[in-house]
Amino acid sequence: MDKVAVLGAGYVGLTTAVGLSAFGWPVVCTDVDKEKIESLNKGQVPFFEPGLEEWMAQSMQKGLLTFTPDASIAIRSADVIFVAVGTPSLPDGSVELSDLFAAVSTISEHMTEDKLIVIKSTVPPGTTQRVKEFLGERLAGICSFEVATNPEFLREGSAIADFMKPDRVVIGTDRSVPIERLQRIYQPLIEREVPFIYTNFQTAEMIKYSANSFLAMKVAFINEISRVCDLAGADVLTIARAIGQDPRIGPAYLQPGPGYGGSCLPKDTAAFAHFFRERGMPLPIIEAVMESNHMQHRYAVQKISDYYNTLDGIKLGVLGTAFKGGTSDMRQSPAIPIINQLLQLGAELTLYDPQALDEARQLWGDACLYAEDEYEAAAGQDGIVIVTDWPSFRQLDLDRVAQALSRKVMFDFRSLYQRAKLEQMGFDYIAIGR
Ligand code: NAD
Repeated sequence: MDKVAVLGAGYVGLTTAVGLSAFGWPVVCTDVDKEKIESLNKGQVPFFEPGLEEWMAQSMQKGLLTFTPDASIAIRSADVIFVAVGTPSLPDGSVELSDLFAAVSTISEHMTEDKLIVIKSTVPPGTTQRVKEFLGERLAGICSFEVATNPEFLREGSAIADFMKPDRVVIGTDRSVPIERLQRIYQPLIEREVPFIYTNFQTAEMIKYSANSFLAMKVAFINEISRVCDLAGADVLTIARAIGQDPRIGPAYLQPGPGYGGSCLPKDTAAFAHFFRERGMPLPIIEAVMESNHMQHRYAVQKISDYYNTLDGIKLGVLGTAFKGGTSDMRQSPAIPIINQLLQLGAELTLYDPQALDEARQLWGDACLYAEDEYEAAAGQDGIVIVTDWPSFRQLDLDRVAQALSRKVMFDFRSLYQRAKLEQMGFDYIAIGR
């Protein structure tokens, strides 16, 4: 029976470790962050991801999933090693690959027999080939090895469900042996008739960037339409519903909002654009998508400042700091530029998020106040601003909100409410493109 190691216990690594152990493979997961491993060994997931802790507990109870801070234990015991470390952006948009190569270097130090190394991290075209060459030099005369790239498409907030039933599995390799080994590992997905796409390293790497760039483009597109709807007197939600009916367009990712964020779309569009700009083949669509997304943050702030004329001393309750509902992840959240700009303009902010408030406190400290729930965030404010699409924000007790506010004003940047209803209750209701 194949044994699996996973390097990196973040959103992707931990989901991979939990998912593969649920498929029945013995998995050892390791991370350079010792505190993370300590908390995982206690059965605690150090970030919010629905269902992950329960699935993890089941695998741990069965003895199929263990965590160790000692990478050598994980690597030596495994036949297949997944690398799921972070590949963050540098300020110029290029990808920081030092964690990836540190992980690959650690693998090479502890390898004495043939293993398959699978790159799950999102990496620019050519990286897996570089990994192969790097390992070839390090392992010459020691042992043989195989390399594959297997980009991940899970969404935070539904990570486990996406892992268990992905839209597709992409495997990039230059030989047939890794394909056979990964087909064995992913047998339950083959039985679920998940489409598998086999290709070379570069194509697999490009698939991930192309997918995320396309999704970013859809979000930026509908947000751009929302801005001009304000000028045209049109309703963006109706437009999104109508154009989404066209199967060539499709309804997904056409919800207008305050701009896309998270650990993937901003980073991957920036990386994609930077990579090909550097090589003399710019991606003007992707460059425009990034600029259009920044415009949406600025436009949201402008909507608020236009309403009050000046924001100096205006008190606002902000609902949501996570980049989307269902996660505690605040990486590149649209809330960050929006809150920063509001603070710069003199607004006094009270923040609430069901899961990301600790992260928010770390970021803004004393510059903001923090509330225990939606109603405390609304108490005594000149208005309430919905930034994140948490399900609980969709089900607010509007009478309680109205009573708590000192001025009945709602900025609904996720279009969670109907204008007519709010206006009937005496609210000033401000959304984008409606
Ligand atoms: P993350 O920051 O949550 O986790 C990365 C983990 O790797 C951290 O815990 C870090 O301590 C650990 N690490 C760093 N160097 C290490 C090393 N040498 N050995 C062992 N562990 C090490 O990142 P993430 O969100 O899980 O993303 C991982 C990769 O997957 C990235 O390339 C990302 O672009 C990609 N991806 C992420 C998502 C997502 O939704 N988060 C989805 C698809 C793909």
